[in-house]
Amino acid sequence: MQTKRWCLKVHRSEGEKTRRRLLEEGLLDRLCRIRSDGDYLLIPISGHTEGAVCEIFTCVPEKEELPRFEQVGGIAIMQEDDPAGAAAILASKKTYHTVLYAESAVHGPYRTKRYKVLAGADTTATEYTEYGHRFCIDLSLAYFSARLSSERQRIRNQMHIGERVIDMFAGVGPFAITLADKASVVYACDINPEAVILMVTNIARNQKKNIVPLLADARNLPGIIRHPADRIIMNLPLHSIPFVQAAFQMARPGGMIHLYALVSQEDEYLETLRRFPVEQIEHRYVRSYSPDRFHVVYDIIVAATNPS
Ligand code: SAM
Repeated sequence: MQTKRWCLKVHRSEGEKTRRRLLEEGLLDRLCRIRSDGDYLLIPISGHTEGAVCEIFTCVPEKEELPRFEQVGGIAIMQEDDPAGAAAILASKKTYHTVLYAESAVHGPYRTKRYKVLAGADTTATEYTEYGHRFCIDLSLAYFSARLSSERQRIRNQMHIGERVIDMFAGVGPFAITLADKASVVYACDINPEAVILMVTNIARNQKKNIVPLLADARNLPGIIRHPADRIIMNLPLHSIPFVQAAFQMARPGGMIHLYALVSQEDEYLETLRRFPVEQIEHRYVRSYSPDRFHVVYDIIVAATNPS
């Protein structure tokens, strides 16, 4: 059967790398076959993302009946409370150990969801690998999303060796551990004790010796970290704006702040952000959240004379 799907069009030489990235992020549409178009490959994806185009694909018959799900390590997360679909997903791949249904949206200060186990082992914990880094995660205890893996790489690629980094909302440490490869030091803060415990495990597993895990309210960081930072990560999309003042207090003049926000328009917070001492602000679409809202990242260069 043929169907119209969103896809990424990439040069053949980039094909396998892109396929792996999409698989890790849970975005690869495995119900359709990747196809070629001259020197390019058309890789089907499960939703619209930046740079996606719409093309016709052939469905893979034997997997057609699998319901939609997102993969994080050995866990498949379904949108529907569908035990029969969950059993089919569990049987479809040896590496899946559990199928979950997200009973709630992301909620509370720790940004976690409530899950119900539909099939497999009775757990919300799993192991996840991203660009060679290994993470212990527990979806009911601490926030984690594989969908930001390309964002982490984008920021890592921008960094200079020896930068001082602050991750204000670090969760189980995916940004901190990715950026530690190039940083001299990463201060990684979270208010959720369970997230910090998992982060410490992940720091040890990945043998990082330059990350300082902090169990703290990010509001208090300017009183804790005394040396100005070259780069600050603010990944708390629903509530990050009230913390911008603290970020400017900690950034060095000319430093960079990456602020993630949930918006209806890309430029939604530009006016608010321009009240701070900024040199330049660029914004880019990150991923969709709901039909009318999406995540955006503001890359903010702090003014060369940051008076904060
Ligand atoms: N950066 C991580 C990642 O990409 O997986 C986690 C991002 S998650 C959207 C936001 C995190 O901020 C949660 O782990 C939550 O516990 C933490 N958080 C919420 N309010 C906070 C605060 N006031 N201070 C520090 N951390 C906070």
